[in-house]
Amino acid sequence: MVNSAICRELFNMLPGRVRAGVLMKEHTSWRIGGPSELFVEPADREELQLVVSFARERDIPLTVIGFGTNLLVSDSGIKGIVIKTGRGLSRILTGDCEITAESGAKLTGVAAAARDAGFGGFEFSAGIPGAVGGALVMNAGANGSSIGALVRDVLLLDLEGRFYRRNNKEMEFDYRSSILLREHYIVVEASFSLYPRDKNEIKSEMAEFIRKRRTTQPLSFPSAGSVFKNPAGESAGRLIEMAGLKGMRIGDAQISTLHANFIVNLGSATARDVLALIDRTRETVRNQIGVELKLEVKFIGE
Ligand SMILES: Cc1cc2nc3c(=O)[nH]c(=O)nc-3n(C[C@H](O)[C@H](O)[C@H](O)COP(=O)(O)OP(=O)(O)OC[C@H]3O[C@@H](n4cnc5c(N)ncnc54)[C@H](O)[C@@H]3O)c2cc1C
Repeated sequence: MVNSAICRELFNMLPGRVRAGVLMKEHTSWRIGGPSELFVEPADREELQLVVSFARERDIPLTVIGFGTNLLVSDSGIKGIVIKTGRGLSRILTGDCEITAESGAKLTGVAAAARDAGFGGFEFSAGIPGAVGGALVMNAGANGSSIGALVRDVLLLDLEGRFYRRNNKEMEFDYRSSILLREHYIVVEASFSLYPRDKNEIKSEMAEFIRKRRTTQPLSFPSAGSVFKNPAGESAGRLIEMAGLKGMRIGDAQISTLHANFIVNLGSATARDVLALIDRTRETVRNQIGVELKLEVKFIGE
């Protein structure tokens, strides 16, 4: 529990950047999640470092989020401090066939900067919401590529408030995973190696990826994209559909009738509804098909 003296101290340290009791449903694409005790949006990496040291010295739990597009936050919310990187750490710098982007920069913004500079590599990401930090943690990918393949190096901050640089190999990128799912570092910025490509070719490939998403994904409802990872050589959506679960509903959470690996919020779904639907899906697929589905979305809270 963060007491009022601690709140005041942080309010005074970073005026205008700290709020109490912010509802996480306002910061997740699922539109689900209870209050965060303290919600901080640092203006730059120095402020980020200050908050991290502040939390460590007082033993306050710390959660870092990007745009909450891969997150299920509990209805009871998040204890301690939530840091959202999006507002302050969003710089994108274009170099010679490379881009350096801060962790809160939108992935779509990085892809647009690469396209405008005539750099190929980021086309795959067209239509993936979220920020660079979350994309690196998850090794976000689509259309046969993922962000890890482009990374040259990453600047990280540890929970002691120290900066580190890690190269691509040290990030241990794998299918929807990286070292950041096992070790607690905060992504500050990343540099990506790209290659020269005709701008019009990039533009038309990205437009095609977006067109495909619009026809195959339920984009008019709040969701967090794919709920489960694809098992090796299989599609989780196909297995869920085979198990007859398309359209199944608990409360206002529903397995999309368009894409069975999406759970959509029909209006006032709670985390409890979504978790119950996840459990039911795993159990049915396990019993009927013999496959254990693994979660791709991250659950935060109690
Ligand atoms: C409609 C839709 C379509 C999607 N399509 C795809 C797709 O095709 N491919 C795909 O891979 N994903 C997809 N996603 C999921 C999601 O967009 C990606 O995983 C995205 O990269 C997450 O970024 P984020 O900023 O929203 O991260 P968040 O959801 O905010 O966070 C994700 C994880 O990263 C951690 N994190 C976030 N920022 C930092 C940081 N700076 N330092 C350390 N940890 C951090 C969080 O604590 C959390 O564990 C989709 C989601 C939606 C809603």
